[in-house]
Amino acid sequence: MSETSKLIEGRTGPWEIVLGLEVHAQVASNAKLFSGAAVGFGAGPNEQVALVDAAMPGMLPVINRYCVEQAVRTGLGLKAQINLKSHFDRKSYFFPDLPQGYQISQYKDPIVGEGEVIVELDDGSTFTVRIERLHLEQDAGKMLHDQEPNATYVDLNRAGTALMEIVSMPDMRCSAEAAAYVKKLRTILVYLGTCDGDMEKGNLRADVNVSVCRPGDYEKFRETGSFSHLGTRCEIKNVNSYRYIQAAIEYEARRQIEILEDGGKIHQETRLFDPGKGETRSMRSKEDAADYRYFPDPDLLPLELDPAWVKKIEASLPELPDAKKARLQAQYGLSAYDAGVLIIEQARADYYEAAVKGRDAKLVANWVTNELAAKLSAGNIDIADSPLKPAAIAELVQLIEEGVISSKIAKDVFERMWAGEGRASEIVEAAGLKQVSDTGALEGVIDTLIAANPGQAAAVKDRPQAVGWFVGQVMKATGGKANPAAVNQLLRAKLGIE
Ligand code: ADP
Ligand code: MG
Repeated sequence: MSETSKLIEGRTGPWEIVLGLEVHAQVASNAKLFSGAAVGFGAGPNEQVALVDAAMPGMLPVINRYCVEQAVRTGLGLKAQINLKSHFDRKSYFFPDLPQGYQISQYKDPIVGEGEVIVELDDGSTFTVRIERLHLEQDAGKMLHDQEPNATYVDLNRAGTALMEIVSMPDMRCSAEAAAYVKKLRTILVYLGTCDGDMEKGNLRADVNVSVCRPGDYEKFRETGSFSHLGTRCEIKNVNSYRYIQAAIEYEARRQIEILEDGGKIHQETRLFDPGKGETRSMRSKEDAADYRYFPDPDLLPLELDPAWVKKIEASLPELPDAKKARLQAQYGLSAYDAGVLIIEQARADYYEAAVKGRDAKLVANWVTNELAAKLSAGNIDIADSPLKPAAIAELVQLIEEGVISSKIAKDVFERMWAGEGRASEIVEAAGLKQVSDTGALEGVIDTLIAANPGQAAAVKDRPQAVGWFVGQVMKATGGKANPAAVNQLLRAKLGIE
C-alpha cells in the first residue's frame, strides 16, 4: 500500500486523495482488432478502413489473433491472471465516429484478470498498484471539426483499432504516484512490445478517477474491500501526458474539497481537462454500466485460449523491468534508485551494460543517467542513436578511475567529446588536461604560494580547515589539473598540519 498519502488541509479539517486509473493502450499491431485494415499514423483520411470498420450491413468481425497474443503478453507482464475463456460484449453508445452504434469491448469476462504493478517514486522508494483487469476493445474514429467552417468530417482510420484498457484499483494517493504509475506501466508495455507508448500521439492515455475522503477512510476501504468508505469519484477523460495527469488531479481534488466543505455533494461525472486553463470541466454525467446495455456480441464466439499457446508466449517474454532492476542491483551493486532510473528504457539499460564492463559501476551509472541523459534529452535524441557510444563513456570513466583526469576535468572532456573533438584520451592528450600528480611539479607551485601568503600559512596552524583556501589556489594555478589527494597531502606536510 502507498505510504505517501498526502494530507490536504481544508477549512473543515484534513482530506486525502484517492486515485484509480483506466489506461487505454493502443495495441502494437499492423492490423485492427476485427478487420484486416492497416493501423498506422499519417495515412490520409479514411484510407485505412475496411467494410467492418465502417459498419456496412452484413459485415462480420473476425478476431485478430495477434492482438489477442499481445493482450496475453501484456497480462503476463503485469503478473496477472490470464483467463483462458473470455468473451466480447457490445457497449452501446451513439457517436458519429462510431458507425456501429456500439463498441465491441469485454465486460463480464475480460481476457486478463487481477495483476500488479510495482511503481518507483523519485526518491527511489516503491509501492504497488493492484490491477483489476485488462480487456480488449475497439477504438472509435475521429471527428474533424477544423476542415470547414460549417461542416464536420468523420475519419474512420482509427475506428476498430485494438485497445487494451488496463484498469487499476484505486491505489494511488497523490498526483505524483499516478504519474509514476503511468510511467512504469508504459515502461512495461514498451519492454513487452505490446504498445509503442507514444503519448503525444494518444497511443497511451489515461482516464483518471479522482475522489477525496477523510483520513482513515482509505484504510477502512483496504481492510474491508468496500468502496462505500470512499468518496464519489469523477473521471477525467483521456489525459495524455504525465504533467497533465498531475495538474488535472491537483485541480480536481481541490474542486471536490471546496464543494464538500460548502456542504455540497459530488456527482459522479465525466470531466475533461483543459491544459490551457489548468482546469477540469464537466463533459457529461457518468453513465452506469446499465446505461450501456452491455450484451454478448452474437457475431463473435467466446475467446478460448490454448494453455500451451499461453505458455509459449510466456516463455518468449523478454527480461522485464523489475527483473532487470533486481539484476542490475545484484550484479553491479547499484542502488535501487540508480537501477530504477536505468531500466526506465530498455535501450538505456542496454547502453549501461555495454559501457560498464570492467569499469566502476556507480561512476558509469552517474555518467549515463546524468551528463549523457541531459545531452540526449536536450537534443531529443534516443539513447540508441547517441553519437557517443558506450565505449566512449567507458574510456572516459577509465581515465577518471586511473587518476589521469579529475571528475571536474572529465566534465570538460565530456563536453568536447559531445562536440565531436574525438575520444577522451585523445582530447586529454591534445588539450594537455592530464591531472598533475607529479609531486615535484606540485611542490614548486605550493612553495611559491606559501612564500607569497605567509599570513594565511600561519593561520592554518590554528585553523587546519583553512587549508582549503590553499587547495583552491593550487587548483587555480594548475587550471584544475592538480590531483586533489596529492595536493592535500603535500600541503599538510609543508604547512605542518597533523
Ligand atoms: P467505468 O468504466 O465505469 O469508469 P471501471 O470499473 O472500468 O468503471 O473503472 C473504474 C475506475 O475508477 C477504476 O480504475 C477504479 O480503481 C476507480 N475508482 C473506483 N472508485 C473510486 C473512488 N472512489 N475514487 C477513485 N477512484 C475510484
Ligand atoms: Mg471509465
